[in-house]
Amino acid sequence: MNIVIFGAPGSGKGTQSERLINRYGLHHISTGELLRDHIARGTELGKIADKYISQGQLIPDQLMVDVLADTLRSPKAQNAPGVIFDGFPRTVPQAQALAKLLESLGKTVDHVIGLEVDEDQLIDRMLRRGLTSGRADDNIDTIKKRLDVYHSQTAPLRQYYINEKKYRPIDGNPDVDTIAQSIDRAIAPK
Ligand code: ADP
Repeated sequence: MNIVIFGAPGSGKGTQSERLINRYGLHHISTGELLRDHIARGTELGKIADKYISQGQLIPDQLMVDVLADTLRSPKAQNAPGVIFDGFPRTVPQAQALAKLLESLGKTVDHVIGLEVDEDQLIDRMLRRGLTSGRADDNIDTIKKRLDVYHSQTAPLRQYYINEKKYRPIDGNPDVDTIAQSIDRAIAPK
């Protein structure tokens, strides 16, 4: 079972991913965490990523797809019963690349969980997270930029996955457990 967890910044992708990993033993690939790890270690990729992330911009597609492909080919990802993609894809070209990559491995995206959250709540959550996360991008100016980027580059993916019949809309406004239960219902075998 391969799952994409999809939603605006601050929509709770990381939180719900954690729960899905524990419940289904899925391997977690968070491109945001991966990049932040590179930044912390001061790698070449980290230096490039830092420039984009601190501006609220996306890392260029080709670079991101290469990083994702490497991560996906790792034994940990290959041996898991499935992968949860958190923060990837974020553009239509990334989604097309992911489909090809999985196809080459005899796999596919089974469900896209779309966490749908009101904009004022997104901003609140990120500002609150910024108080403790130490994340360079959880400040009001960068948050606004990230939401703009989301609307222009990432939101079109929603329709892309609706067309593929993979999109499962989830109300991401209530508390963590209620959202988790909606997700379980959406991915339960019919
Ligand atoms: P959030 O969803 O709260 O924005 P993430 O940790 O998923 O947090 O991403 C943080 C930042 O990392 C993004 O704003 C972007 O700059 C970069 N990033 C993460 N995933 C991708 C991706 N798939 N393509 C391009 N940039 C990405």
